[in-house]
Amino acid sequence: MESRPEHEVKAWVSGFGVAVPRGATAAGPHGVREVAEGLTPPLVVKAYGPGLVHKSDAGAVRLGLADRAAAAGAAGEILDVLARHGVTPDGFLVEEQAAPGVEVIVGAVRDPAFGPLLLAGLGGIWTEVLDDTALRLCPITEADAHAMLGELRGKALLEASRGRPPVDRDALVKVLLAVGGVGGIVETLGDELEEFELNPVICGASGATAVDARLIGRAESPPGRGEEAAEAGRPRPATALRGDFDRLFAPRGVAVVGASTRGPNFGNMFLGFYRAAAFTGTLVAVHPTAREIDGVPCVPSMGDLPEQVDYAMVAVPAKHCAQVVRQAAGIPYVQVMSGGFGEMGHPELERELLAAAREAGVRLLGPNCMGVYSPAGGQTFIGGEQGRPGRVSVVSQSGGMAGEVIKVGERRGLTFAKVATVGNSADVTPAELLRYLSGDPGTSTVGLYLEDPRDGRGLFEVLRETAKPVVALIGGRSGQGRRAAASHTGGMVSDDRVWAALAAQTGLCLVTSQDDLIGVLDFFDLHVRRPVHGDAGVLVVGPSGGASVLAADAFDAAGL
Ligand code: ADP
Ligand code: MG
Repeated sequence: MESRPEHEVKAWVSGFGVAVPRGATAAGPHGVREVAEGLTPPLVVKAYGPGLVHKSDAGAVRLGLADRAAAAGAAGEILDVLARHGVTPDGFLVEEQAAPGVEVIVGAVRDPAFGPLLLAGLGGIWTEVLDDTALRLCPITEADAHAMLGELRGKALLEASRGRPPVDRDALVKVLLAVGGVGGIVETLGDELEEFELNPVICGASGATAVDARLIGRAESPPGRGEEAAEAGRPRPATALRGDFDRLFAPRGVAVVGASTRGPNFGNMFLGFYRAAAFTGTLVAVHPTAREIDGVPCVPSMGDLPEQVDYAMVAVPAKHCAQVVRQAAGIPYVQVMSGGFGEMGHPELERELLAAAREAGVRLLGPNCMGVYSPAGGQTFIGGEQGRPGRVSVVSQSGGMAGEVIKVGERRGLTFAKVATVGNSADVTPAELLRYLSGDPGTSTVGLYLEDPRDGRGLFEVLRETAKPVVALIGGRSGQGRRAAASHTGGMVSDDRVWAALAAQTGLCLVTSQDDLIGVLDFFDLHVRRPVHGDAGVLVVGPSGGASVLAADAFDAAGL
């Protein structure tokens, strides 16, 4: 972690078109007097150097200095104050004082799952107190920048008020784009970004000036040389993932590993599911000694499976899973139902499992999930007769949740195309499946249940590109929910506000209950092929006066 002197960061950001005050640096009060010569008062003097992160807290910022002499005097006073705290500054920055205006923070941070985020807020030094910020995933568009400003609770401060003209919103939007837009500061920093902050940007009636700039980077290289590092470290774009999952949802043959001859376990349960659903392909169990289990023929090992087996369901204890997967070469998809990996404090078993999948050249679903459901393709994990094939698809990090959505949904008349449960998503991620489903002619709409999507960046990219309506129920959005999610899918769940930002940027529909997930999927499936033209006006046609009044209230609450 490395923090660079303010003037260096300012010089660098000005190269991106961000206005900064004119200024110069000097080693001490005498030099300050000299370099202030070319600057127009009022002047500002600040000290810089190690330990001077929050300069005003340290007494290292002096404003409103009328001339060179005052600037030199202020530098001397700062030296005294800092000396009392045992701090010796590296030097001083003297700069012109920007005209008063509305102070805005523009910053960037890195989310573990979603990568760089852009933050804009009101308040300058009061930002933390006001806690009024808007968030977006980088890169942002111009429309995103405008939407961010429109989201602020204190947005009225940007408008004209009490004889004060409105702030130059276009200039502020330009700063947001210079930081978080395509080819902007965040993108240029790439993996080097840890924290970047312009706090404040002073916004006046004409122009916006970044009067403070802070960059905390990860690498040793100065910002100018960031490009190469950025290229190498940039998250792999989701377009590199060319998953074809046709056979996952319509396997010619299915193998179940882990069924027992001595009584029902999860493996036996899956054999039962396929039999109840009248699976028409090849169904085989893998068992070291048995000839058949529950009427299903057995082979002694993965290597003995018939060629048409496209999918293996593994339900053996966690510590044996990697061994099974290692022998699965030739089977395109292996689903590990078993839990006991990252979510139970065994990330090393999960890493071993993933390595085994890579070694065998198979795609791994899970671990810690249920299975795949596709009535048209014979896949099931529900029990009972196969449902009617339809066009609704679902990707879920919870097997139980997916099962509920299918059962309750089918009772409500929903029909499903392709449902995949991915649990911890060690290999195949929700983003990769969403990309596949987004190009799947048999899918009209996609529902997601997610906790830690693992590849948040990929998810953002697919959501931005897809033309299909997507609805998501996110688990772990509260503090307690996050803790629960950690032990469920073993994930680091992102700040709730990142999901809201993702939805605002991509049109993803966020819901907060299983019921709404089903309801919205039903609506999308029915109406996706009926594009609506016109404005945001709503025509309510109700069966009764009361129902119409309630509908009007609901639309009002939704801001329509
Ligand atoms: P820090 O954030 O490290 O305490 P800043 O450089 O942001 O220090 O300075 C503190 C405050 O002083 C800013 O929030 C801003 O209000 C004001 N300020 C600093 N530099 C200027 C400047 N060049 N023009 C106008 N105001 C400034
Ligand atoms: Mg500051």
